[in-house]
Amino acid sequence: MALQITNLSKTYPNGVQALKNVTLTIPKGMYGLLGPNGAGKSTLMRILATLQEPDSGSAHLSDIDVVNQKEEVRKTLGYLPQEFGVYPKASAESLLDYFAVLKGITNRASRKEVVEALLRQTNLWEVRKQKLGGFSGGMRQRFGVAVALLGNPKLLIVDEPTAGLDPAERVRFLNLLSELGENSVVILSTHIVEDVSELCTNMAIINKGQILLEAQPLQAVAAL
Ligand code: ADP
Ligand code: ADP
Repeated sequence: MALQITNLSKTYPNGVQALKNVTLTIPKGMYGLLGPNGAGKSTLMRILATLQEPDSGSAHLSDIDVVNQKEEVRKTLGYLPQEFGVYPKASAESLLDYFAVLKGITNRASRKEVVEALLRQTNLWEVRKQKLGGFSGGMRQRFGVAVALLGNPKLLIVDEPTAGLDPAERVRFLNLLSELGENSVVILSTHIVEDVSELCTNMAIINKGQILLEAQPLQAVAAL
């Protein structure tokens, strides 16, 4: 299980070239995509999440063609977008259950099991009956991870997840992510060096749509 990205390019109608020939090999584990605002991170994340199409280039998750086999990828994809909106009046438990139905987990008993396991894993079990509108930023992000993990994705994409979190919530959130990298490809996009240096095993730096460096975080941070 690995993600191979080859020569991906994307230019928006306004002429902004968001990605220029991006080539990356992303192995199993936690992978950091580090870059400043406007670097092209979200564009790349949305293409990998099959929400946007590149102008050219390809991406393969093992033998699945991410650009052309969208249905196949979606079966095994978890995506936590930058702005994760939730219905504020729903409880964590009821909304997760609802998303589980959408994900195709229709059997009531197995759904109950899956929902409970995810709420426990994301440390939300105690607050499962509370309304999402009252959740802190960190709780909401952890809820987003629970949703993204429905159906055991082999590819998990999290786009700038720590941006609005206070330090304690940030640590909690990163610890949660670090538990997930063992069996899947987890891509964390961020502009915060520490997010990457603290928990990613591999990383790339992107700026102005181009990959500047691929490395293991310790080497890369030393080179900065
Ligand atoms: P990021 O924090 O990833 O840079 P942005 O704030 O740039 O995100 O983008 C937020 C949303 O606005 C995204 O859906 C993005 O596609 C869209 N967007 C960003 N820049 C432009 C632009 N120049 N013209 C139109 N839409 C844009
Ligand atoms: P990042 O996530 O690293 O902040 P983005 O992928 O959001 O970067 O944006 C890369 C570049 O593309 C930026 O210059 C941004 O303004 C531009 N951009 C993003 N989305 C759109 C869009 N929908 N239309 C036009 N330009 C966009």
